[in-house]
Amino acid sequence: MESENIIYSKKYINCSREELLEAVSEVMSPKRFTHVKGVEKAALELARQYRVDYEKVSIAALLHDYAKEQLDEEMRDIIISENMDLELLQYGNNIWHGPVGAILIRNRFNVTDSEILDAIRHHTVGAPQMGLIEQIIYVADYIEPNRIFEGVEEARALSKSSLKEAIAFSTLKTLKYLLEKNVKIYPRAIETYNAWVVQK
Ligand code: GDP
Ligand code: FE
Ligand code: FE
Repeated sequence: MESENIIYSKKYINCSREELLEAVSEVMSPKRFTHVKGVEKAALELARQYRVDYEKVSIAALLHDYAKEQLDEEMRDIIISENMDLELLQYGNNIWHGPVGAILIRNRFNVTDSEILDAIRHHTVGAPQMGLIEQIIYVADYIEPNRIFEGVEEARALSKSSLKEAIAFSTLKTLKYLLEKNVKIYPRAIETYNAWVVQK
């Protein structure tokens, strides 16, 4: 499915794909916008392969990093006013932009579909249980065509044979990378590792 051919039904968001692209481009740098369009492309390929709704996948992909360049102060206020996990306050935008993004998107675009919102909410650290749309956005964010890092080709190949193996691979790689950097690990990332990487 070529992204340009998707026509939104307005069931999930009250605008066209072109209008959504415009709204997204206004809140981020050109480089990040290119990444977002790459995530949509990768996600739509996975949607075709795993037989998932193109429109929902397109919306989730285009909005997944919507909050990445929002101000920290505004993000903190949302974490508090929405009664989110206060542990979040010990982290920063890297961890916030998923869960806070889901709230902003509900408020600004009136998106209420839980599969779309959960895919955005969980795209950075994953979750122990993820539905197909969450899985697709999580993997597409890692393998989109503009990504260049060691292992990305292997992740792309895995995604063609098994979405679950691609999730396990990218989760382990990201966790190893973060441990090497001695940064604080968000506990949910460990839960994702336990659920998707550890052999049962
Ligand atoms: P992006 O938004 O497209 O750049 O990608 P992600 O949303 O997947 O990740 C955003 C950033 O958060 C990346 O730099 C990750 O390495 C980082 N990140 C992911 N999990 C954790 C974590 O548990 N702790 C910390 N400190 N950073 C994390
Ligand atoms: Fe992100
Ligand atoms: Fe991203």
